Amino acid sequence: MGIGTFYLTFGLGVLLVEIVAGRHRGVYDRAEWTVLGLCSVLGMFVIRPAMTIASALLLGLLLPAGKGALAGLPLWAAFAGSLIVTEFVFYWVHRWAHEGKNRPALNWLWQLHRTHHTARYMNAMVVLRLNIFWAVVQPVTWTVALTIYLGQPFAAALVGVTQFAWNVITHSNFRWDDAARRHPRFGRAFRAVEHVLVSPGIHHTHHGYGKDGANYRNFGLILSGFDALFGTLHIPQGRPWRYGLPGRDAHWSEQVLWPLVRGTQAPPTGGPAGERPVA
Ligand SMILES: [Zn+2]
Ligand SMILES: [Zn+2]
Repeated sequence: MGIGTFYLTFGLGVLLVEIVAGRHRGVYDRAEWTVLGLCSVLGMFVIRPAMTIASALLLGLLLPAGKGALAGLPLWAAFAGSLIVTEFVFYWVHRWAHEGKNRPALNWLWQLHRTHHTARYMNAMVVLRLNIFWAVVQPVTWTVALTIYLGQPFAAALVGVTQFAWNVITHSNFRWDDAARRHPRFGRAFRAVEHVLVSPGIHHTHHGYGKDGANYRNFGLILSGFDALFGTLHIPQGRPWRYGLPGRDAHWSEQVLWPLVRGTQAPPTGGPAGERPVA
């Protein structure tokens, strides 16, 4: 199975099971459909191909001697190295994006990332709910391109697929981890694993506010080890009080296209996608 086929099959498979289980019922209004549609289509068919070309050109200019330099490395070593570097850089860029809420110098990073956090629900679609320019600063774009450039295209593909699949699982509406965490025999071991790997609960907490919601915690994508190391890990006891961000969101056009569109405000919510407690 090709990498593209895996992306599509796994993502659509989880999405389909969520839909059949009724996890998307009553979630979207027209503005939400527009944000999701534009983020998905522009992200997949415009921004991603453009960034692939841009990163290849830029790496060629910056590292002319690096092309194929690590081609002799075993696959497992290239995969592990690329994954750890990607996760480390992702942790810091993601953390700075959230710190940008209160730090003027980093506020632009928060403006690019906040689109991912204005979803007032959690399911597989949130993976694609990204401002289209987030891909330019998103570390995965660059570290995967670098891994290919250094001569390890298969390791790069494995890193990309693993992160995509993990992202789908940790955003999905299925919270199998609640039972695992509370299990009388295995709960302690599961919580120990959560100090290394991101569970759905850890990432759902990152999208929440109120009790057990903490978007100033849990910045890892696959590895929670950097959160544990740098003091930002929060393993929840339950689900956050609300998903999303408190207050009014920007208009859908600004959520998708900031900084091309700025200073807007969405109409008051209260419809299907409005503020509501987590089910
Ligand atoms: Zn975030
Ligand atoms: Zn997320």
